[in-house]
Amino acid sequence: MVTSVMPTYGRIDIAFEWGEGSYLYSTAGQRFLDFATGIATNSLGHAHPHLVNKVQEQAGKLWHVSNLYNIPGQMEFADRLVANSFADTCFFCNSGAEAMEGALKAARKYHFANGDSKREEMVCVSGAFHGRTLATLSAGDNDKYREGFGPRPGGFKHVAFGNLNEMRAAMSNETAAIVVEPIQGEGGVNPASAKYLHSLREIADEFGALLVFDEVQCGMGRTGHLFAYELSGIMPDVMGLAKGLGSGFPVGAVLATEKAASGMVPGTHGSTYGGNPLAMAAGNAVLDVMLEPRFLNSVKEKGAYLESALQDLVSRHPKTLDSVRGVGLMRGLKCVCANSDLMTAARGAGLLTVVAAENVLRILPPLTVSTEEIDEAIQKLDEACAMVAAV
Ligand SMILES: *Cc1c(COP(=O)(O)O)cnc(C)c1O
Repeated sequence: MVTSVMPTYGRIDIAFEWGEGSYLYSTAGQRFLDFATGIATNSLGHAHPHLVNKVQEQAGKLWHVSNLYNIPGQMEFADRLVANSFADTCFFCNSGAEAMEGALKAARKYHFANGDSKREEMVCVSGAFHGRTLATLSAGDNDKYREGFGPRPGGFKHVAFGNLNEMRAAMSNETAAIVVEPIQGEGGVNPASAKYLHSLREIADEFGALLVFDEVQCGMGRTGHLFAYELSGIMPDVMGLAKGLGSGFPVGAVLATEKAASGMVPGTHGSTYGGNPLAMAAGNAVLDVMLEPRFLNSVKEKGAYLESALQDLVSRHPKTLDSVRGVGLMRGLKCVCANSDLMTAARGAGLLTVVAAENVLRILPPLTVSTEEIDEAIQKLDEACAMVAAV
C-alpha cells in the first residue's frame, strides 16, 4: 500500500526536531553538524535570531493578501535586490523551478515583444539542473528525471558545458537565450570559468540572444559574493534565485534588466503566493544579515579556510578522495569511493552532507558557520574516510 506521503523521495530514516546555527537535533536525541543545509538552502543556519524575530513579527500581522494589492515588503525586497545586482526589476515566486520557469518565459517574451517571435530556442548545457517542472526538465540534462512524463515543452538544445565551439555552433537567429548555472550544483559542483562566462556574454550579444543565469543554488552569498556572476565580471540579462534567498522559507525570484523584462507587462505572468508579506519578511531579514558590511568577506575567508582544510583531507585519504571542487562555501569532494558511502559514514560520525552527480559529495555549510565548526566537520570527515576505507 502506498504511503500517505507520495513516495517520490528515497528518504534517510531520521527526523529532526529542532536546529540552532550549524546544528540539527533529531527526534532520537542525536546531534548533527549540518553541512547539507537543506541542499544549500538554510543559508543563515537554523533558527537565526534575526530571521525568527522578523518572521514572527510578520506572522502576527499579515501572511497573505495576493498580488491584487501593493505589498510594501515586496517593494522593499525588490529595491534591495535591484540595488545590489545587475537587475532593474524582480518577479517573486516560491521555488527554484518556478524562478527558472519565469526566467525562460521572460526571455522568450522579450523577443516576442520586440517583434522577433521566431526566437524561441534555449541553448542549455550538459550536467544542468533547473528544476522539476516540465519546462525546467527540458532545460535540464537528466534523462532519468524526464522518463515517462510525456511531451515536454520543445525548443531546448544542449551543448557540452564549458565548450565554446559547441555553443557557438548551436546559436542561430532563432536562439532566444543561453541558459547556464555559473556553478553547477546537482551536476557535481562545477564552476564555469570566468573566461567561459565572458565568452557566453559575447556570443549571446553577437547573436542577439539573452544570457540567463540559474543562481538558485550558487547565488545568495555562497561564493563570498552576493551573486556568483560577480566572480566573472560579466552580468546576465535574467537570473533565477531561490534556495538561500529565504534561508529555508520558500521564496524564489526572477531578476532581469529593464530591457530583458520588456515583455513582462500586466497579465503576462503571475503567482498567487509569490512575494507574499510573510515570505518577504523572511527575504528582507536574510538581506539584513547578508548585506552587513563584513558578512560576505567572512564567507570568503571561511571559504578559503574550508578549501585548504579539504585539500589536506584529500591528501590524507588518497584512496578514498580524489579532489576538491567549488568556490567559497559551495564545495564538492570528488570521491574515489562511492559518494553515497562517504555521505552515510559522515552521517554516522555526526555530519550531514549531500551527494551530487559525478560521484561528488557536496559540502554546503551555513554561511554563518565558524572556523571551529569547519574543523569539527573535517575531523568527522577524517573519521568517515577511515570508516569507508576499513570496509
Ligand atoms: C534546486 C535547484 C533548482 C530547483 O529549485 P526547486 O526549489 O527545487 O524548484 C533549480 N536550479 C538549480 C541550480 C537548483 O540547484
